[in-house]
Amino acid sequence: MQTLPIDELRAQARGEVISTEDEGYEDARRVYNAMIDRSPAVIVRAANAGDVVAGVNFAREHGLDLAVRGGGHSVPGFGTCDDGVVIDLSGMRGVRVDPSTSTARSEGGATWGDFNAATHAFGLATTGGIISTTGVAGLTLGGGIGYLARGFGLSIDNLVSADVVTADGQFVQASEREHDDLFWALRGGGGNFGVATSLEFQLHPVNEIYGGPMFYELSAVENVLRFYREYIADAPEQMGAFPAFQIAPPLPFIPEDRHGDAFIAIVACWAGPVEEGPKAFEPFHDVAPVVAEFVGPMPYPALNGAFDGLLPSGLHHYWKAAFVSELTDDAIAAHVTHGPDVPTVHSTMHLYPIDGAVHRVGAGDTAFAYRDANFATVIVGAWPDAAQSEANTAWVRRYYDAVAPHSEEGGYVNFMAGDDQDRVRANYNGNYDRLVAVKRAYDPGNLFHLNQNVVP
Ligand SMILES: Cc1cc2nc3c(=O)[nH]c(=O)nc-3n(C[C@H](O)[C@H](O)[C@H](O)COP(=O)(O)OP(=O)(O)OC[C@H]3O[C@@H](n4cnc5c(N)ncnc54)[C@H](O)[C@@H]3O)c2cc1C
Repeated sequence: MQTLPIDELRAQARGEVISTEDEGYEDARRVYNAMIDRSPAVIVRAANAGDVVAGVNFAREHGLDLAVRGGGHSVPGFGTCDDGVVIDLSGMRGVRVDPSTSTARSEGGATWGDFNAATHAFGLATTGGIISTTGVAGLTLGGGIGYLARGFGLSIDNLVSADVVTADGQFVQASEREHDDLFWALRGGGGNFGVATSLEFQLHPVNEIYGGPMFYELSAVENVLRFYREYIADAPEQMGAFPAFQIAPPLPFIPEDRHGDAFIAIVACWAGPVEEGPKAFEPFHDVAPVVAEFVGPMPYPALNGAFDGLLPSGLHHYWKAAFVSELTDDAIAAHVTHGPDVPTVHSTMHLYPIDGAVHRVGAGDTAFAYRDANFATVIVGAWPDAAQSEANTAWVRRYYDAVAPHSEEGGYVNFMAGDDQDRVRANYNGNYDRLVAVKRAYDPGNLFHLNQNVVP
């Protein structure tokens, strides 16, 4: 193995540069998914865009693998590598809100918790994920699905511009006005095109929402899913709601004797006038008796953080995903068969609605191609103990095999497993060839290949 001049990199960087001998290396190499155990040669904890340039140049000049880490949540572990360079952006988490234009600029390592806290102070928000510890950049570059998507589109539909360090170490600004081809590709193309050191978003007035989870008996599962299918098709766009299979955690709002039981749940967020929330939730109460619920008015960031405790860092993860155009009776039957077997309190299946404002953007307008799909399914296997790995991955695969025939060929790149690389073309549907063209222009050597890779 070559001896790397890591001290030269150290001399260039403002942030910490951590190599295998350094104290803190073990901590620094760890990522969210405990299934991923990799040992990079060096981790650059970037303090600014200059450090990112230094890290990109170092990897390219020494022919090393390069991994980019924002929030660290990649289930396939794209935020780390063996023997290469990791650019870790977790020290770059600032979020600046401009209330005069209702926009916010977020640094490349900010999480949705950082972002929502900053924008909430101004009564503003944009579409982000449903867990506050997930990275803004990684989630956005793949598309960005969350409670507010039906009303405001995907996270990428609210992206105004991005600062990007490309594979040749250049710093560029991408927007509709500059590097518009890169801007198009960034909106769905993931980490294929460079390191986003900051992202600028359009915000919307969202302050208090009315929301939370409702748990129903498994005996009602078919009714609940059929109801959901009909309901969401015409629901007001201020309603973000999705069904989930969930084992009841030991929380005070759930009867103690039901802790540990599996339920079908609906998790909903009403972002319209908060006083209309109870009325907006009536259909959820009419469909079947609610065994337990934690529903009410709350600040939007509170709902965004409400499920963080179910998914702490350090669990083992394996996920599968697919887009769904029509939730057929056969698809529902597959959910009814496999969802109730959800193996741990951390595991789940979510069926996110991606209609409304998401459909008003054309399939070719951004790299995110499945603009006609109505749902994004994700089957989440998450468990604490390595000894449970086989049983949990088997459940995810079994469930996925049952829903796949009723789904589109492609799925959402951010929910895909590491063994899904052969689906990348399908994930981008008609947009793949254009992504390849942009990849050839900005990263012909495929320096950024640790992702759902667009091969130049
Ligand atoms: C608990 C949990 C909840 C989730 N919930 C949602 C959800 O509600 N909605 C949703 O859409 N997705 C969700 N996801 C999926 C999520 O979008 C992806 O896991 C995403 O990759 C996470 O981004 P990150 O920055 O946290 O991860 P990282 O592991 O840091 O990054 C993943 C990849 O994204 C790219 N990347 C990250 N930061 C940058 C950057 N600054 N510049 C360039 N490339 C970058 C890189 O390719 C990197 O390898 C969730 C994931 C988890 C684990």
